Amino acid sequence: METFSYVKAPSIDKALASASQAKFIAGGTTLVDLMKLSVEKPKTLVDINLLPLDKIEKLPDGGLRIGAMVRNSDLAWNADVQKSYAVLSEAILSGASPQLRNMATTGGNLLQRTRCAYFREPTAGMPGGYGCNKRAPGTGCAALEGFNRTHAILGTSEHCIATHPSDMCVAMAALEAVIHVEGPKGKRTIAIADFHTLPGDTPNIENALEAGDLITYVDLPKPVEGAKSTYLKLRDRASYEFALSSAAIVARVEGGHIRYIRVAMGGVGTKPWRSREAEAALLGKPATAATFKAAAEAALSKAKPQKDNAFKVELAKRCLVRSLKTATS
Ligand SMILES: Cc1cc2nc3c(=O)[nH]c(=O)nc-3n(C[C@H](O)[C@H](O)[C@H](O)COP(=O)(O)OP(=O)(O)OC[C@H]3O[C@@H](n4cnc5c(N)ncnc54)[C@H](O)[C@@H]3O)c2cc1C
Ligand code: SF4
Repeated sequence: METFSYVKAPSIDKALASASQAKFIAGGTTLVDLMKLSVEKPKTLVDINLLPLDKIEKLPDGGLRIGAMVRNSDLAWNADVQKSYAVLSEAILSGASPQLRNMATTGGNLLQRTRCAYFREPTAGMPGGYGCNKRAPGTGCAALEGFNRTHAILGTSEHCIATHPSDMCVAMAALEAVIHVEGPKGKRTIAIADFHTLPGDTPNIENALEAGDLITYVDLPKPVEGAKSTYLKLRDRASYEFALSSAAIVARVEGGHIRYIRVAMGGVGTKPWRSREAEAALLGKPATAATFKAAAEAALSKAKPQKDNAFKVELAKRCLVRSLKTATS
């Protein structure tokens, strides 16, 4: 770990004023790990734990506002979330461990970085070390020819095939969350679908934030009347493990037909993966096994497996079929 200075911001204005050359620290469960590995080397840390962003509040339009500093445990166990946005609660509780969830925040979870082992390797880009375009642009991607069993099959580029690791973000993609940001250019909102970016030829750029931007809130739209939701996560161990494939579904069925549907996937994409192909194959169709299978085929039709992760194509299809069955039954 390299030396850094540390300030605790007493207000949003003070946090923004100190932010241009700094990194915010919230729960620290991602950032401190990456600093120890010398992947992240901030000169200054701005601690945002005193900011008044730790509330979950109902919005006048029936939606829910989540402060960026709301801990993952508090969000998952919140009564309104459990009642009206069950998919979010299930997704968060499927991730990490209780201790981590007690520290991890909504803003930090949105910005957690890939678990690609080559990204986390300190000697990347050094003679004899692993290249990683995400960590050291232009040094290559060791995962392409390396061990890539856990890597992405959707949204990859020739420069990076890393998966986005978050469970929470997959549920938020299905719920169409909106992220509030405050920064040097003022306040703005970003739809979750536009928040995380594809790797393309700049895998080091991972989201739509600009230098000094602070995430303040995440808004969930009003719950869809009559809809059910579910999160299914498939992984190597029953707990404390990232997804090999996951699915977040929000669905409303009337008269045996699917009248509202949102499908998002985790563990397979370079960003939380909303599948519009699956949604198009489901909307208005009878809620049957044949429809679910067709939707799963559509969702994975553009999959590009690597040498070690072809199994994810079939796993993701089965994950979708099973979660669609649960959400529509
Ligand atoms: C062993 C282990 C297992 C895990 N398993 C899972 C899992 O199965 N599923 C899963 O989804 N996650 C998992 N996680 C990741 C965990 O969810 C994240 O570490 C956590 O959500 C990050 O939140 P944080 O508040 O600690 O972020 P921090 O580490 O404090 O910050 C992360 C990043 O976000 C930035 N940041 C934080 N808040 C803001 C803000 N308000 N505005 C702007 N920037 C901000 C920081 O500058 C930093 O770059 C695991 C982590 C560990 C260590
Ligand atoms: S997959 Fe992405 S993060 Fe992993 S080594 Fe390649 S460039 Fe780096």
